[in-house]
Amino acid sequence: MKLSERDISEIRDVGQVRKKALNSAGIFTVEDLLYYFPRKWLDRKTLNNIGDILMGAKEMTFSAQLIKTKAFPSKNGQTRLNAAFSDGTGMLTCVWFQGGEYLSKILVEGEDYILSGTPKYFRGWQIDHPVIERMDKEENLRNTGRIIPLYPLTAALVSKNIDSRTFRKIIGNALDEFGKELTETLPFSIRQIRNYPDIETSLNDIHRPTADSTRKLAIQRIKYEEFFHLQLVMCRRRMNVKALPKKYIIKNSGPLLKKLYEKLPFDLTDAQKKVVREIYDDLKSDKVMNRMLQGDVGSGKTVVALLAMAMTAGNGFQSAVMAPTEILAEQHYKVFSAMCEGLDIGITLLTGSMKKSVRDERLFEVAEGRSGIVIGTHAIIQEGVEFRNLGLVIIDEQHRFGVLQRGELVKKSDSSPNILVMSATPIPRTLSLSLYGDLDISIIDSLPRGRKPVRTAVRTDKELSKVLGFIKSEIEKGRQAYIVYPLIEKTGKSDLKAAVDGYEELKEGLFKDTGIALLHGKIKSDEKDEIMSRFKNAEIKLLVSTTVIEVGVDVPNATVMLIMHSERFGLSQLHQLRGRVGRGSHQSFCILHLGETDNEDTIHRVRVMETTNDGFRISEADFEIRGPGEFFGEKQSGMPDLKIAHLVYDKELLKQARDDAFALLNSDPVLAGHPELRDFMNAEFGDKVKFLNYS
Ligand code: ADP
Ligand code: MG
Repeated sequence: MKLSERDISEIRDVGQVRKKALNSAGIFTVEDLLYYFPRKWLDRKTLNNIGDILMGAKEMTFSAQLIKTKAFPSKNGQTRLNAAFSDGTGMLTCVWFQGGEYLSKILVEGEDYILSGTPKYFRGWQIDHPVIERMDKEENLRNTGRIIPLYPLTAALVSKNIDSRTFRKIIGNALDEFGKELTETLPFSIRQIRNYPDIETSLNDIHRPTADSTRKLAIQRIKYEEFFHLQLVMCRRRMNVKALPKKYIIKNSGPLLKKLYEKLPFDLTDAQKKVVREIYDDLKSDKVMNRMLQGDVGSGKTVVALLAMAMTAGNGFQSAVMAPTEILAEQHYKVFSAMCEGLDIGITLLTGSMKKSVRDERLFEVAEGRSGIVIGTHAIIQEGVEFRNLGLVIIDEQHRFGVLQRGELVKKSDSSPNILVMSATPIPRTLSLSLYGDLDISIIDSLPRGRKPVRTAVRTDKELSKVLGFIKSEIEKGRQAYIVYPLIEKTGKSDLKAAVDGYEELKEGLFKDTGIALLHGKIKSDEKDEIMSRFKNAEIKLLVSTTVIEVGVDVPNATVMLIMHSERFGLSQLHQLRGRVGRGSHQSFCILHLGETDNEDTIHRVRVMETTNDGFRISEADFEIRGPGEFFGEKQSGMPDLKIAHLVYDKELLKQARDDAFALLNSDPVLAGHPELRDFMNAEFGDKVKFLNYS
């Protein structure tokens, strides 16, 4: 039986009471217990001389002989025990205020002991309640005289008297009894190249370390292994996609592409051209495209998507684009319709708030194949939406969708469609490797010519009226501006300024005669559309809003972005918001209002924005500050579930693991030569990929 199937009660010293407590901490099997890792290790291996103790010493460990014990009855009916030790350099008294009766029976005068504790001075050196272990055999030294692992303890564990000492004992038992049965999932060749110990040695070095160096190497191996397994999944998935039968192969770039290309109001940047070429090659090849397009905000991903769809439509197949917000879907629809004017291509918009009669009509267009391009929100993955020959699926702002939703859209095709996912939140490279490691990656690494970098400044309440004056002067020059608030309406006693109040105040005050409008998530969808189009055609000069405009919105004439309470936003979010300006040829400005705070970290974080416009650097910083969970807002279904490896701190290991995993599968695609690893992968990740040896 596998260790992942053996109940912990099979381990010596684990009875029903401990079993229940351990279960409450999520430990059910022998394997669970062996992979329950210490939170830290105390070095009790280095022995000290009693004669060297200094005032204010931290925990120290001594090896000393028990000279004499003396027990006294104490007030609370307990027995207090004093024990005098000597190591030849000095004397040390150990004192137990409880449990003295028991201890006086087991401590033997004249024997040698290892003791650890924090010495204090009280008529001589003294340690209260030391950790003590008899030194007759080195194997006995579980709790002191060595490096001591300390385990994470939950309240439930503590209440059942399970402490680190118990863990050391029962994990030690588990290693003795079952260590030989551990499954080795790292191929020998890899362990050899990377110089990693086998799994049994590694777990021993973690739970019963004898030296810091081997303990660290063992931890590294476990972290590496975690990445290695994930990367095997990524690589296998990638191979699976490449092996899919491909129905939608374009013969050439088609008649539409050329016409569209000639109509474009600008020349493509070299970076855009390169990416269009990569996509073209993918669409033409007999392997299904599975590509991620990364490019900073404003780098011009939309037109690349449109060109890909034009190639597809020119070959008679449909494309679908999914955008995260109605505002964005609407905008894509308008841009695409304008650019494709006069071309023979049907463009259809599908959103959730559409009237049923309109929706039915559009669904019919899509099903009939009259729409070459279908644009929508998640509404396009809903039931009732049927395509005729969906050959290309594009997901805009991928980070806003769960991985599941990508799958749903793919299922709308009768075959395996080509997939292009686009992300403007540049995510740290390490993260994209582990989240999207199964995709090919294209990068737009430069902005269209003529863009001036946005100037960014942090301002406080005191300077706000000056800032507003500046916005007014920009508007008078013919430009437009955004003011973004963290909230729609004020809630309770919060000091946060909210969009509704801000809007009222500005409308009655400084911007009385200026076209000003309010936009937020609670405004009805058709009203939202109307406001956006009036802002686009510059009837509205100042848009007061919440983060509904965070992604994608493109109004090149807007040059000022004022973000109220910028301390309330993540850096990547600020970067996205800032990306709403600087899209045209005018100098643009981003002003980050900082609410009253004396939190140095917060101020420091916001100020990162002043130092760089580089989305990759910002996302790295953001990710390091907030960690993967918060970085994505709510829990993303695609986040890798890492137990001990860390995406930032261990990124070197990730890279090694990736290289090794890809090399291994290249030479042994179904792990035929590594049955233990293959079985493990199938058991652990079988819901994602399977490694099957059909031969
Ligand atoms: P994002 O990558 O953030 O989605 P968009 O596709 O919205 O960026 O493009 C930002 C702006 O840049 C749009 O107004 C678009 O028309 C414009 N644009 C895109 N490519 C070019 C180019 N090669 N030259 C000039 N402007 C461009
Ligand atoms: Mg975009």
